[in-house]
Amino acid sequence: MSVRTYRLKKSGNLRLSEHFTVREFRCRDGSDTVLIDDRLVTLLENIRERFGKPVRINSAYRTAKYNARIGGVSNSYHVKGMAADIVVQDISPKRVAQYAETLNCGGIGWYEHKKFVHIDTRPKRVCWKDSGSNVRKTFSECPYAEPSHTLQFGDAGAAWIQWHLKKCGAKITIDGKFGAVTKAAVVVFQKAHGLTPDGVVGEMTRLMLKREVV
Ligand SMILES: [Zn+2]
Repeated sequence: MSVRTYRLKKSGNLRLSEHFTVREFRCRDGSDTVLIDDRLVTLLENIRERFGKPVRINSAYRTAKYNARIGGVSNSYHVKGMAADIVVQDISPKRVAQYAETLNCGGIGWYEHKKFVHIDTRPKRVCWKDSGSNVRKTFSECPYAEPSHTLQFGDAGAAWIQWHLKKCGAKITIDGKFGAVTKAAVVVFQKAHGLTPDGVVGEMTRLMLKREVV
């Protein structure tokens, strides 16, 4: 944890990194106290650097009172100084969310319609789209074609399956070969999803893999 407490009146113009000052993280209710996690600043700086465009912070620190007033969830990371809702000039929220996924972010919320991205520094990765209840394993798209027929041990063309299993947490290499490691990961996935654990990937297993990731 590296959340620091700043005073807006005294340190509003204090530069936290090349592109961000304390003021940008302030609570919009005018509170003098501003909590900011160092790691959050680093993430924003990474995003700034990647796209080479200004990053506007719509909302970062919120006092509990202000958070309640605007209808934020009570355990919001904004209240802890660990979250920011951002807009990167000229860059779609989707691209920002996809890039955030490659960084050391905890929570990443892609708000497609409201056109911003929420990022926070919670310990575990959680991705969601538009609403916190709409959890996804990833925002990236599978670069491999979905197989149109059943695949099993010994077959080639398993990259699509491996990519999905990996997004579900399996420790496998995407090499396209349906070997023993892939089969074992399929069985684990099938057991966890109430499917017949035969290690064979047919239509039902593909459907569940898709549902889990997207
Ligand atoms: Zn947020």
